[in-house]
Amino acid sequence: MSESTCGTVAIIGAGTMGQGIAQHCAQLGYEVQLVDNVTARAEAAKFGIAQILERLIQKGKITNDERQSTIARIHVQATVAAAAKNASVAIEAVPEVVDLKVELLKVVVASAPAECLLATNTSSLSVTEIGARVGHAARVVGLHFFNPVPLMDLIEIVRGVDTSDETVSRALSFSRTLKKSAIVVRDVAGFATSRLGVMLGCEAIRMVEQGVASAADIDRGMELGYRHPMGPLKLTDLVGLDVRLAILEHLHRELGEQFRPPPLLRTMVRAGKLGKKSGEGFYIWKDGQPVAKAR
Ligand code: NAD
Repeated sequence: MSESTCGTVAIIGAGTMGQGIAQHCAQLGYEVQLVDNVTARAEAAKFGIAQILERLIQKGKITNDERQSTIARIHVQATVAAAAKNASVAIEAVPEVVDLKVELLKVVVASAPAECLLATNTSSLSVTEIGARVGHAARVVGLHFFNPVPLMDLIEIVRGVDTSDETVSRALSFSRTLKKSAIVVRDVAGFATSRLGVMLGCEAIRMVEQGVASAADIDRGMELGYRHPMGPLKLTDLVGLDVRLAILEHLHRELGEQFRPPPLLRTMVRAGKLGKKSGEGFYIWKDGQPVAKAR
């Protein structure tokens, strides 16, 4: 994979992150093979990308030709094997469940060319464990994208114990082709970003539980007082409360008591209040925008 040559990226899982990674890779010229176990979700993700690109045309940021060529580069596949067939990079973006990620990357290994980079978008799980269980640890690397992918500049590259130098160097090269800035971190639960970001969100949820202030005021405190572009509760809504809970459960097991998930988070997930994607979390979401709840 040379830095000037675009290849094929297989993306497994077409939820929040899979959709964003697919859009960004296709906009940068990669052929994208998108697969989800619910094929309708992959189709919906492609439709969602088309709508986002339409808005970018209206804002004068891209041309109609760019929109059409981007959409034409996104191919929905029915199976992981079909998606991986010609991939130079495969990225799994399925839920934060280690067994699921391992199972799917094993299918990629069986179907993709031998030089295909095997990447996981996990926010917290062990890249070392995923690599060892997939059986090709040297080729497995964490490519941790941020939400929304087309707008966020960072890719956190996570190096497992047996990830090879060549794999890290290819991951860096791939990040450059996506015009992202990369940091390379050691494989410790939560890496550099989730560990700090999730802790802030977790403490903010505890503060809502204790009635310290409303979610909107806690967020405004961090936005205006600390210049955070987005408060920790709005960000939790954007990420998905279910996703945050899964990360916290893992960090609690690995790093200890300070990451114990707050009961309020568990209750909200059980009630289906997952944040932006379900229309309600710490905010009510209308037309993609957060509206503060009455206290
Ligand atoms: P999501 O729930 O929005 O999407 C997951 C998708 O995977 C769903 O569409 C689901 O149908 C699909 N899926 C489930 N089982 C599958 C299978 N067997 N084969 C193919 N597809 C399958 O989750 P998400 O927020 O996109 O998170 C995905 C991963 O990215 C997680 O590991 C998460 O920790 C990580 N991540 C999330 C964020 C975020 O802000 N949401 C940021 C960085 C990393």
